[in-house]
Amino acid sequence: MFTALLLEQTDDGIASSVTELDEARLPEANVSIDVAYSSLNYKDGMVINGIGRLVREYPHVPGVDLAGTVTESTDERFSPGDQVICTGWRVGEIWWGGYATKARVQADWLVKVPEGMTTRQAMSVGTAGFTAMQALVALERHGLTPGEPLLVTGASGGVGSSAVLWAGLAGHHVVASTGRPENGDELRELGATEIVDRAEFAENPSRPLLSERWAGCIDAVGGDPLAHVLAEMRSGGSVAACGLVAGNALNTTVIPFLLRGVNLLGIDSVMASFDERQQVWSRIAEVMNADKLESLTTEIGLGDLSDAATAILAGKTKGRFVVNPNR
Ligand code: NDP
Repeated sequence: MFTALLLEQTDDGIASSVTELDEARLPEANVSIDVAYSSLNYKDGMVINGIGRLVREYPHVPGVDLAGTVTESTDERFSPGDQVICTGWRVGEIWWGGYATKARVQADWLVKVPEGMTTRQAMSVGTAGFTAMQALVALERHGLTPGEPLLVTGASGGVGSSAVLWAGLAGHHVVASTGRPENGDELRELGATEIVDRAEFAENPSRPLLSERWAGCIDAVGGDPLAHVLAEMRSGGSVAACGLVAGNALNTTVIPFLLRGVNLLGIDSVMASFDERQQVWSRIAEVMNADKLESLTTEIGLGDLSDAATAILAGKTKGRFVVNPNR
């Protein structure tokens, strides 16, 4: 038997409960894992609240991230005792996920926990921190250099706070955009040099080009704020588009692309290749500062997930939540 957060469809919507399940109910796959930690991402909030038709079959065990120890493997790349990370691949959506003490997944979806990192730290990073580093690497590949102004939107959230942390540790000049100025000191501690009010970007601008401000942007927000930021990009600057908390529509013009050579870079953590995952996790391990990572982390148990899921959708959470299923 193992313990899991189970989602079931009822006449009133999706109901969740922490329950004991028979291991025989785990999906068929080649690697079995004792889950040490999972994490909470915006998408988990959607899944737990039944939003966006991400889950097709119930009962369902959510949790898009997991890290733990291999207990059985029929794949030669993994052996019992190996510490592994699983993010993406639609685990927690169309496959039972990490909000459980046990999971079974495909070896192709796994990477080993980098040397010197714990499973808890791996889940403090999780999908949000992985995405933030993917975005930073993409911007650097497109010419962003330390010292140039890098805007991070949604800075108090999981992707945003991780982006502030990674970019600060990598020596970038980070400008954190937040709707919660009371988080300013914490964002500075994490790595921000300047704090700006997200109200500055809330409106879709009436002109296609505004004064040039940003060499790069890691955007967790989308919608009109992204349209606004595009009009403020410096010549040759790049925006890494990661999220959509302010909306998935993008009403803009092609003028920033044509007259300033601005690049809009899409970031998809879910289907990232094995090679890209290895590169991104290596860079995370290279820059990671354990104390700073811990400072943005809150630990919760399976029984806390329902409230936390509602809070993340409302934009009320801060930083990263690791989920300890054994708590
Ligand atoms: P969080 O809720 O933790 O963070 C989002 C932050 O955005 C909030 O904390 C808030 O920060 C700000 N925000 C909230 N609502 C609004 C709004 N209406 N307008 C402007 N800003 C707002 O979510 P995550 O960081 O986990 O995820 C962020 C986005 O990234 C989501 O859309 C998620 O789906 C997406 N994502 C995409 C991935 C990919 O592979 N592309 C992977 C992971 C996440 P503040 O108060 O500081 O302004």
